Amino acid sequence: MKNKIIIFVALLALTSIIAASLPGSSNNCSFVQLKASGVITPEEEQALIYMREEEKLAHDVYAFLNNKYDHKVFRNISNAETRHGGFVKELLDRYSVADPSDGKKEGEFVNSDLSDVYTRLTEKGSISLNEALKCGAEIEELDISDLNKRIDLSTSPDVKQTFMNLRDGSYRHLQAFMRNLKANGETYTPVHLTQAQFDEILASDITKGYRCGDCPQGKNKNSQGNGNCDGTGPKNKNSQGNGNCDGTGPKGNNRK
Ligand code: MN
Ligand code: MN
Repeated sequence: MKNKIIIFVALLALTSIIAASLPGSSNNCSFVQLKASGVITPEEEQALIYMREEEKLAHDVYAFLNNKYDHKVFRNISNAETRHGGFVKELLDRYSVADPSDGKKEGEFVNSDLSDVYTRLTEKGSISLNEALKCGAEIEELDISDLNKRIDLSTSPDVKQTFMNLRDGSYRHLQAFMRNLKANGETYTPVHLTQAQFDEILASDITKGYRCGDCPQGKNKNSQGNGNCDGTGPKNKNSQGNGNCDGTGPKGNNRK
């Protein structure tokens, strides 16, 4: 029995060592510190500029909706979007690209398409909480669809990895919005993704291959267990389980 315990503990330790040595694992949170490529392509530069504004769009819409409904899912995810925007900004700075969000107020964008989406979704989200939650799902879908295209065109490891991290964040956010809609007895039809893509994302366990897109180590180090950390489940309160750390959970409560 004792030997079995020793073997188990040893295996556990080995597993953590392997996990810690994987690139971008949760013990190596600073993915933006991935080696600089030296130079990025014009397509990557445009992609960074666009994604900087799209992360701001997500933040600004959720901040608006939180202001209206005072709902945890908007409050927590809007904070996650600020971090996402910060990751893109780090890359803009790294490659000396001007920040399109510089000096912009909430709801202000250089890109007029994103500006239109802001107007449309804040109007739609003002109708009711459920419409607002659907706006959340739509933004995450849009984000995933736009990131997919930009991941495909990126060749610089730091840019590509950052986009993949942002996409992981969007997967978790989409799951969180859908859990809230389901809890309210609502259905939702995907707008930007195919139903098959959408279903696959909802069924995916995004903690696998987690690349630390959302949660700085200091905030999730006590999140043990498999609690969904979306600010909606009872598990979150005690931080039980293996915390999906989707940037939407009540992190303050997790600290011990
Ligand atoms: Mn995001
Ligand atoms: Mn998001």
